[in-house]
Amino acid sequence: MSGDALSQDPAELRRRIDTTKAHPARVYDVFLGGKDNYPVDRAAAAAALSANPRGYLDVRHNRDFMRRAVNTLAKEDGIRQFLDIGTGLPTAENVHQIAQRVIPDSRVVYVDNDPVVLAHARALLTSGPEGVTDYIDADFKNPAQILEQAAKILDFDQPIALCLVAILHFVEDEEAYPIVRGLVDALPSGSRLVLSHLTEDLNPENIRAVQRTYTERGFTFVLRSRAEVERFFTDSGLELVEPGVVPAHHWHPDDAAPVPEQPEAEYLATLDAIDKVRYHDINDVTDADINVYAALGRKA
Ligand code: SAH
Repeated sequence: MSGDALSQDPAELRRRIDTTKAHPARVYDVFLGGKDNYPVDRAAAAAALSANPRGYLDVRHNRDFMRRAVNTLAKEDGIRQFLDIGTGLPTAENVHQIAQRVIPDSRVVYVDNDPVVLAHARALLTSGPEGVTDYIDADFKNPAQILEQAAKILDFDQPIALCLVAILHFVEDEEAYPIVRGLVDALPSGSRLVLSHLTEDLNPENIRAVQRTYTERGFTFVLRSRAEVERFFTDSGLELVEPGVVPAHHWHPDDAAPVPEQPEAEYLATLDAIDKVRYHDINDVTDADINVYAALGRKA
């Protein structure tokens, strides 16, 4: 692991963390049932839930797609290098834990631009002894910095899985498409792109209502159609691996998502909607719940 991410000046880090404004990484953490969030984030999550009461399923299924994709890439394709941009807060099972369970010497580089994620980066730097993990405090919109720093850890002559999981909806077209193309161009043959994206194709009313709650808070929130998601692959010269771009819960489901332990019914009854999210079984899902497309591409 690299010391860079851990040598941040704590006072400087605190200055960069704004607890008066919701942060996407922390709102996302609320929906995963995490504890690394503040009242503003819980308020943002509550607004999104009132717009779309089962909206946490998008987050849960997005994360579970990531688990299945990384697991499949390691197990079936022997991919042992991952560049995960827009990592989010550490949670139960980050990319390196999933990959290193299959291939212990896997190397994983995490990238996020949120100081909150940086503050928790220690939990991402827990590589097994044979592998390596690193964390880069950088913006997707600065791909040159990402590639330069990632090259210290990853071998750019061997296939790399670039993970852009639930990040591109924060980036407008003018930057999103060319930057993805540039990143893919830098990867060697046999590399992969693991991508998920919010869409209004599936349940437009729900997701537009959620979008309003985010844009009110000043977040960019670009919903993309199936064709627009496919464009990330075709534009970059990638071939889509079957089943193509599909709702996240339909991407090679494996029923291995952990089922949370259920507390006593009386205790559950005392919890508010946000706290109840933690105990939801994600297998209880229908097509009317999901607004996330998922896909995997391969560079020839
Ligand atoms: N990939 C994880 C987390 C998704 S939440 C998962 O799917 O489970 C989206 C993450 O992208 C947040 O942590 C947010 O801080 C990060 N993010 C958003 N815009 C970014 C940018 N321009 N550069 C780097 N990270 C960004």
